[in-house]
Amino acid sequence: MSQKKCPLNREQLEELTQKFPTPFHLYDEAAIRTNARELKDAFAWNPGFKEYFAVKATPNPYIMKILQAEGFGADCSSLPELMLAEKIGLSGAEIILSANDMPANEFVKAVELGAVINLDDITHIGFLEECSGLPEAISIRYNPGPLKSGNTIIGHPEEAKYGFTREQLFEGYRILRDKGVKRFGLHTMVASNELDATYFIETAHILFDLVVELSAELGIKVEFVNIGGGIGIPYKPEDEPVDLAFVGEGIRKLYEEKIEKAGLAPLDLNMECGRIITGPYGWLVSRVLHKKNTYKQFVGLDSCMTNLMRPALYGAYHHITVPGKENLPHDFVCDVTGSLCENNDKFAIDRALPPVEIGDLMVIHDAGAHGHAMGFNYNGKLRSAELLLRENGGVVQIRRAETPDDYFATLDFEGLQAFEA
Ligand SMILES: *Cc1c(COP(=O)(O)O)cnc(C)c1O
Repeated sequence: MSQKKCPLNREQLEELTQKFPTPFHLYDEAAIRTNARELKDAFAWNPGFKEYFAVKATPNPYIMKILQAEGFGADCSSLPELMLAEKIGLSGAEIILSANDMPANEFVKAVELGAVINLDDITHIGFLEECSGLPEAISIRYNPGPLKSGNTIIGHPEEAKYGFTREQLFEGYRILRDKGVKRFGLHTMVASNELDATYFIETAHILFDLVVELSAELGIKVEFVNIGGGIGIPYKPEDEPVDLAFVGEGIRKLYEEKIEKAGLAPLDLNMECGRIITGPYGWLVSRVLHKKNTYKQFVGLDSCMTNLMRPALYGAYHHITVPGKENLPHDFVCDVTGSLCENNDKFAIDRALPPVEIGDLMVIHDAGAHGHAMGFNYNGKLRSAELLLRENGGVVQIRRAETPDDYFATLDFEGLQAFEA
């Protein structure tokens, strides 16, 4: 069972909304830091362990700075994400560019920052060489294909767009070696939101075996192995969180059996998790605008799927509580909707809630990763604010809400005056 608690109660949230009207995302700094330390502790046996926070999960520089202070780097997949990493003062091997189908300027920027480049395809070796020259250290993303089963978000590895096949992997390292690359990394990520802890131990197993084989066949020493992100969080109250200490211990044993025995230590273990780092420590706080009773009961909020699209996109479950009514009987069954002109704009379908009134606050849980980040402007919806509950109990705004001016910023209305229709 996972606890579904917002760190602020109804009174505190109501007070907060005097200054910052709903909807907004609220993050809990203390909880993010505690969790970051648990992750580091689980892998403390590996001196080179590093987590590269997947920026796409929560691309906010204030959150990234907290994680940087905890020793995390950044895993980036676009030019603006690389720029965010740069703006908070990360550089060199603290940044990974997880490439896939990248334009040239992203490789150029990554090489300029001295970032580790994780190549997604064998043809990108030549592409990278042309755009920026090959950096000294390069990592390759492996796709094990039918050797490993995937899960629902990423699907079967052999259907996934990511990574090198096994043959391409050996060929890729051989080409890189012959071109003078000196430092090598190996990466894979074939699951998303996976709650089975053994899955990640198995992933490390596959990569450690490959490190041994690559050493024997090509005479290269892989310096770092990145087991990707994709660790799941307990979105449903009955789900169990992944036991990070168990994963760390399982991987440590394999490290001793495979890597140390083969004389290939030290090997740095890297991760690029997003969801487990911030997901459970962020909430979408919204207010009930309307109640509607037709063929079903509907509760309409002042937020919509542009604030949190996971339920509409994946049919994902997000727990919802009504602050101050947590202990009332949950016998009001309704769909919780937003105002987008799309019928799948629902945060919950047939959800049992306490009796809900117009004006009630609603808290949507586990919105700290892939929440605000996935926001979009369809239907003229404006992105909401992000707030941070500091360790001292104060709340600061870490991103303001958009205004119509932001929405219109890319349009030229002066040009429109002169435009002849
Ligand atoms: C999305 C992504 C991650 C983070 O995934 P989480 O599910 O948030 O842990 C890490 N690495 C890569 C390459 C990704 O695309």
